[in-house]
Amino acid sequence: MTQEFFHEGDLVGVLTTQPLDRTLDYKAPEGGCHLGAFVEVPLGPRKVLGVVWGAGKGDFDYKKVRSVIRVLDVAPMADEMRQFLIKAADYTLTPMNAMLRLATRAPGLGDAPSMRKVYRLGTDEPTRMTDARAKVLGVLRDYGGLAFTLKEIAESAGVTTSVVKGLVKLGAVSEEDAPRDVPYPRLDPDRGGKELTNDQAVGAKILSEAVRSGTYGTTLLKGVTGSGKTEVYLEAVAECLRQGRQALVLLPEIALTAEFLTRVEARFGCKPAEWHSGVTMTERRRCWRMVGQGDAQLIVGARSALFLPFRDLGLVVVDEEHDTSYKQEDGVLYNARDMTVLRASLNAAQVVLASATPSLESWANVEAGKYARVTLASRYGAAVLPKMSAIDMRIEDLPGGRWVSPTLQKMVEARLERGEQSLLFLNRRGYAPVTICRACGHQIGCDDCDATMVEHRFLKRLMCHQCGETKPMPTVCPSCEAVDKLAPVGPGVERMAEEAQALFPDARVAVLSSDLYGSARALKEHIQSIARGETDVIVGTQLVAKGHNFPKLTLVGVIDADLGLQGSDLRAAERTFQLMRQVAGRAGRAEIAGEAVLQTFQPEHPVIRAILGGDEEAFWTAEAAERRAAGVPPYGRMAGIVLSSPNVQEVFDLGTQMARMDGPLRKIGAQVYGPAPAPIARIRGRHRVRLLVKAEKSAPLQQALVAWAAQFKLRGELRMAIDIDPQSF
Ligand code: ADP
Ligand code: ZN
Repeated sequence: MTQEFFHEGDLVGVLTTQPLDRTLDYKAPEGGCHLGAFVEVPLGPRKVLGVVWGAGKGDFDYKKVRSVIRVLDVAPMADEMRQFLIKAADYTLTPMNAMLRLATRAPGLGDAPSMRKVYRLGTDEPTRMTDARAKVLGVLRDYGGLAFTLKEIAESAGVTTSVVKGLVKLGAVSEEDAPRDVPYPRLDPDRGGKELTNDQAVGAKILSEAVRSGTYGTTLLKGVTGSGKTEVYLEAVAECLRQGRQALVLLPEIALTAEFLTRVEARFGCKPAEWHSGVTMTERRRCWRMVGQGDAQLIVGARSALFLPFRDLGLVVVDEEHDTSYKQEDGVLYNARDMTVLRASLNAAQVVLASATPSLESWANVEAGKYARVTLASRYGAAVLPKMSAIDMRIEDLPGGRWVSPTLQKMVEARLERGEQSLLFLNRRGYAPVTICRACGHQIGCDDCDATMVEHRFLKRLMCHQCGETKPMPTVCPSCEAVDKLAPVGPGVERMAEEAQALFPDARVAVLSSDLYGSARALKEHIQSIARGETDVIVGTQLVAKGHNFPKLTLVGVIDADLGLQGSDLRAAERTFQLMRQVAGRAGRAEIAGEAVLQTFQPEHPVIRAILGGDEEAFWTAEAAERRAAGVPPYGRMAGIVLSSPNVQEVFDLGTQMARMDGPLRKIGAQVYGPAPAPIARIRGRHRVRLLVKAEKSAPLQQALVAWAAQFKLRGELRMAIDIDPQSF
């Protein structure tokens, strides 16, 4: 490696993960250190993690400068990675230390190898079983023979580490030294390639040539579900591996990875490294270190995998690039798709954005000539696109308290007779979105948020979907104290499943929704059992829309196609269009033709008609024209400023003041809208108001925002968060 080297005693500037927005000077330790080295440094009485960020500033008495304690036993951070973090921080207006924290999420990064212990299920039963002990053993049993760190077990089981240690003493849990990081088996790029169709081969050739060029570029890979996008981008991955560079595939949903890993194994001979919240800490640690040494060739992961310390990143695939889960809405607010493009441009890497229903942003970048485009027009093999139609709910004869129309019911019955699967799609988790008192009309809301509590029968509790708070279902109305008068209003998937079971008593009905599973593994197993055909009727939320392959599924019935069109969000049309097309795409993947029906009260709505007609170009063109006229993304730039405080008056006062003192924004021709209640007006007891800033595409928005925000002091409990490119506007 050719990174700059500092000799013992040289002054180095170290960026730590502590909330200080600058580097601190230290002396290089005995043996010296490289630029980018991960180090442990003293800060007050503590030892903290940091990265050697450059030469020291030297504006301090040299004699008083303390020394780096030690250089950690991991590869130094590459220059491109440091550049990436700096640019990403500038773009998202995130403090550098918070950015560094994203890039150092490796468990036990600073631990010496000998200090690490791992634990697994032991042989003995504890003599006395307690609740806490049972939880620990349950977690370990759930995961079979895998080894975990102490912290990991305690966190999963929701107990203290001393419970686990107690079980070690009793022999019920065994302790051993953590193994040295085992290298990943080598993937073979020339192994299991499929014979590609003409379209696919053309696409694969374009992407492979781009990878071979060794330069930056982004390509939108657009193709209907089942057209073979995955097959095509795996060829680009193969080329990247042949070049000896590292590849990253980002997926939006953990549940997807099982199927994907199997495909990678079939193609390259073994599984790639995984990075997401469902991976054990030991495995995460291994992945992080191997990526940094250049010893992991292919990583499959969630959005945070973009912050892994790649040695030589040659290709990033963002699958389902339109998916909203690529936007991190908590802590550092970033969109992984956009950050991927930034990172790739610094690494001379290629980006492939794959989707059946691309985001308007990517579509516009293709139009503007910034991205290349590869299109797969038809499904692979005999599979044809599903036939789509609407069920006009205004003329259906539907008894009260029911949501499946007689027309849809008949269609499901026909599938049941033929032994095929049906999906009833409803994008609402839980049993009922609202619980109301039939005596006084009171709706049960969350104590801390501006949201109704959603009944979850499965959990036997009410849950706030904003903050996750739950409480038991009361028997008495909290407002008028009437007994047994509380009733569910409206459908959630759990209630739909009841209706489905009543309508189709002999069918095997299963709910597929994110909150019904204790672990990612349980969810994975459930999805696999559905794929094997062990379910007749699936009732699902948008979890099912995301790329799962259910070969026997031939009918998709959307219970409420109008749901996403309510509200004033300018992105509602785009979202609904994408979601409906994705869900419909689940039907008829294999040889059997599929059909998708939308239950709607407004079949003439332009978005519903665009979904049914399938004329995407026309839809995008119309959407683009509207956005351009309004000057909003992707044709203008936006930022959201969310102010929050427990005191509602305080937030509105500051918001009003900010809207008035908009000089720095006016200077760049930007406009301020608001303050208005934020999309979520109250979370965890904090009131939130939002100001939206709109500027022209070329305006220096970030600089103006910084100058604008600097005019105001945040006192007491007031907080401000800046969201560049907000998801809703
Ligand atoms: P997409 O990613 O566009 O949804 P996939 O790559 O998952 O499409 O392909 C859909 C199905 O068709 C998969 O089961 C895949 O293995 C199969 N398939 C696609 N192209 C080919 C091919 N050229 N040869 C064999 N099977 C293919
Ligand atoms: Zn809440």
